[in-house]
Amino acid sequence: MIEDSRAGFQPHGRPPVTTGIPAELLLALFLLAAIIPLGMAAWTSGSSDHVPTELGAASAILAATLLYLQFLSSGRFEALSGKIGIDRTMGFHRIAGLAILIFAFVHPFSYISGTLLDNPAASARRLYALVTSPRLRSGVIAIALLTVLIGFALIRTRRFVRYELWRAAHGPIALVAGGLTLHYAIRAGTYSADETLRVIWIIYALTALGAAIITYFVRPWRMWREGWQVEAASVNADGVTQLVLRGPEHTKFHARGGQFLWLSVSPHGPPFHDHPFSIASSAGYLPRLRLIVRHAGDCTITFHALQPGTPVAVDGPHGSFVLPGRTSAVVMVAGGVGIAPLLGMLEEAAERGDKRRFRLLYATRNQAAFACKDALADLGNRLDLKITYCADEACSAPEILRGPVCSDHLRGLLSGLESGDVSVMLCGPPAMMETAADAFLALCVPMTNVHYERFDYGVGRGRIDRRRRFTALAILATVIAAGFLFSLR
Ligand SMILES: Cc1cc2nc3c(=O)[nH]c(=O)nc-3n(C[C@H](O)[C@H](O)[C@H](O)COP(=O)(O)OP(=O)(O)OC[C@H]3O[C@@H](n4cnc5c(N)ncnc54)[C@H](O)[C@@H]3O)c2cc1C
Repeated sequence: MIEDSRAGFQPHGRPPVTTGIPAELLLALFLLAAIIPLGMAAWTSGSSDHVPTELGAASAILAATLLYLQFLSSGRFEALSGKIGIDRTMGFHRIAGLAILIFAFVHPFSYISGTLLDNPAASARRLYALVTSPRLRSGVIAIALLTVLIGFALIRTRRFVRYELWRAAHGPIALVAGGLTLHYAIRAGTYSADETLRVIWIIYALTALGAAIITYFVRPWRMWREGWQVEAASVNADGVTQLVLRGPEHTKFHARGGQFLWLSVSPHGPPFHDHPFSIASSAGYLPRLRLIVRHAGDCTITFHALQPGTPVAVDGPHGSFVLPGRTSAVVMVAGGVGIAPLLGMLEEAAERGDKRRFRLLYATRNQAAFACKDALADLGNRLDLKITYCADEACSAPEILRGPVCSDHLRGLLSGLESGDVSVMLCGPPAMMETAADAFLALCVPMTNVHYERFDYGVGRGRIDRRRRFTALAILATVIAAGFLFSLR
């Protein structure tokens, strides 16, 4: 039992906090880094005389700059993604990837844009000459690799794509594309004749390389260093395993319930064999960590058979999906294994003696899939917590609501609470989170109070997802505007 196994473990001294650069500062730093090469090219070259050619140069400079900056948005650098969260980081990474590809293609086409309509045949010949020119070969291969990279990322969730293959290929392809881009910029870049810009490209490329080395080598090495191992593994509900990991008594791992870690169970396997899981326990449970894992595929399906003492590696904590402090009530909706981070938050609230009102709606496909019911019942005694269970399939227990989760269930959760003074925490299948987020917004919960974490890095369709996409596009539009100003100078 989870509760019994806590005995004898003291909360760690250091207050568990999420770290990271505040969003506004991060945005300012990003914009600065994104326009430095462009600004330097403008500074060292004076005014432009041919707008399409300058647009071509600007798009190449922006493609290269954004490509190098993307190495920092892998989600492994807490200083960068700790405050904004993994969903925003990955959402921006996705959109920036598409922008890089578009900039990369605009680059060669801008050189033929003047004759494209009047004389398409001549334009095609000129394009062919550009593409086959030995001097420009590194740039052409870089564009081809970027096309493969982004194309692969777009289809990565399809059944025929092995997730591990995508992860193994993503970084190395990006690295080779980055190296070729550096070669192209220095050899053929219109503005790279100036030494300052050449130095800037080398700094950007080395930063990207450093980030890749940290992600692929340093972090995996550090993951194994602390000596974590499996303490217990058991099937906790239908299709769900509970893993308890144990670290050294004075572990350096400080986490808040709801954050996540990267777990590897294959000692010294390649770096892309680790998987992200939410921390379903509080800081007081350290040096142990509880994970609640759905049997999703070839890796997670083996977890229940892990023997006590099996060495594992953890990298973390990551993410900012933690209990917010501002509101007088917290409403949670968990779908399936989405209960994991919410359980961690509730454990943390109980440990801190949080007196606020908590409401939890826990939905699964059937009664047998409810995980950690004992732990939740115990939390019900330690907190002002009301738990409502909901199952898609009809079941015998009358207190279990019939799913799927709908706006009536959510309205019921808010009853007796002031919707403007409620924090909403959502975790579960994407469609459930989007529906629930939109429903809570319609019930007058402020958008800034609705928080969720996706387990799939996917593209959301809810209002909050659209707002985030709009913000990402606005940031990129600012960068594009800088490109236009450069061309018109
Ligand atoms: C921030 C975060 C927190 C998560 N927390 C939990 C949790 O607490 N409990 C839990 O059961 N699951 C969690 N997941 C999802 C979990 O990482 C995947 O289910 C798991 O990696 C599947 O591995 P597999 O090899 O068994 O399955 P696979 O056969 O490799 O894949 C099964 C499905 O999982 C997806 N997937 C595989 N690896 C990853 C990955 N590294 N990141 C995202 N999706 C992946 C695949 O696209 C596929 O749809 C979390 C994911 C993220 C991003």
